[in-house]
Amino acid sequence: MVRSISVLGCTGSIGRQTLHAAEHLGVKVAALTANRQIDLLEEQTRKFRPSFVAVYDEEAAKAFRTAVADLPVRVGFGMEGLLEAAALPEAGCVVTAVSGSVGLKPTMAAIDEKKRIALANKETLVCAGELVMKRAAEKGAEIVPVDSEHSAIFQCLMGRQSGELRKILLTGSGGPFRGKKRAELENVTPQQAVHHPNWSMGAKISVDSSTLMNKGLEFIEAMHLFAVKPEQIQVVIHPQSVIHSMVELVDGTVIAQLGVPDMGLPIQLALSYPERKPSPFQTLDFRTLGSLSFEEPDLENFPCLALAMDCARQGGTAACVMSAANEEAVHLFLKGRLGYNRIYDLAAGAVEALGGLPGGSLEAILEADRAARDYVKAKTDPAGG
Ligand code: MG
Repeated sequence: MVRSISVLGCTGSIGRQTLHAAEHLGVKVAALTANRQIDLLEEQTRKFRPSFVAVYDEEAAKAFRTAVADLPVRVGFGMEGLLEAAALPEAGCVVTAVSGSVGLKPTMAAIDEKKRIALANKETLVCAGELVMKRAAEKGAEIVPVDSEHSAIFQCLMGRQSGELRKILLTGSGGPFRGKKRAELENVTPQQAVHHPNWSMGAKISVDSSTLMNKGLEFIEAMHLFAVKPEQIQVVIHPQSVIHSMVELVDGTVIAQLGVPDMGLPIQLALSYPERKPSPFQTLDFRTLGSLSFEEPDLENFPCLALAMDCARQGGTAACVMSAANEEAVHLFLKGRLGYNRIYDLAAGAVEALGGLPGGSLEAILEADRAARDYVKAKTDPAGG
């Protein structure tokens, strides 16, 4: 079990639940970073007493430093601050709960310090899966997934030999618009898109869940985390979200991980691993559970998933371009500046215009990320494109 953690993105949904888990397990909090909700950050700082806190925005960091002037805490800002929190000697584990590709550099910094990465930032592996996994293997840094599906797969593979895995069965609820046609989704509002039937999550990931882009990002993430080929991953729609994913072994046996849909469980395991500790969460009651159902994903009406699977097969910077364009498009949608179905159009357009370059270096990946964001800005700027 880890003794102390740095939490990158501590005021978001995963960050808050990580602090609950740390409190429950008696894990010390060495560093916190946040980008917004500075009042909550102050509350968390007073409660958990980290030695270092970074606020992404410089002005907000100054205000924060004044607010906590009575505490013995150092305050940093910007990417420098995130990197310092990620590499802090006191922290044995870094929980990467920031949203978006901003998580990439700090994750690399933590790997270089051989820390356990409790990985909740899927864009890191989507953009730079090969680089990150290679560097982690070289440095001997452990990556423990926090995403519920990947945690499930990780748990199903505990104690297995690497040659025993034939196929990953990646489950997903299908999101709030399961069964709808793409044309019916034209006028979806941000409020409708962020309302997920089973999981309580941040706004960006909730929109991604509704478009099935989230499942697509998870597909790519799983490919890198578990070193499998795209054809070894099958997406299974399972609306009840009771099975969090499964693996099929070479002899045909299927192993599944089940539990209530609560992110607190995979978060706690990422901290307690390889041990298991009692948790305060609700358990499954099979007397009242009813039936579990399964269906094929609808790739025609939810083309983001098909796009992501395509990018997984293409390799190089394609997935990075798709993810960055999607991130920009989702932010515009959440601000009411973009129609729902345009999210896919922009992500697919960016891949078509920019995708397919080799992704062999961090520089190439960051460049592809920037180009994809510029593409979306140019296409959505009312004055131009
Ligand atoms: Mg997930």
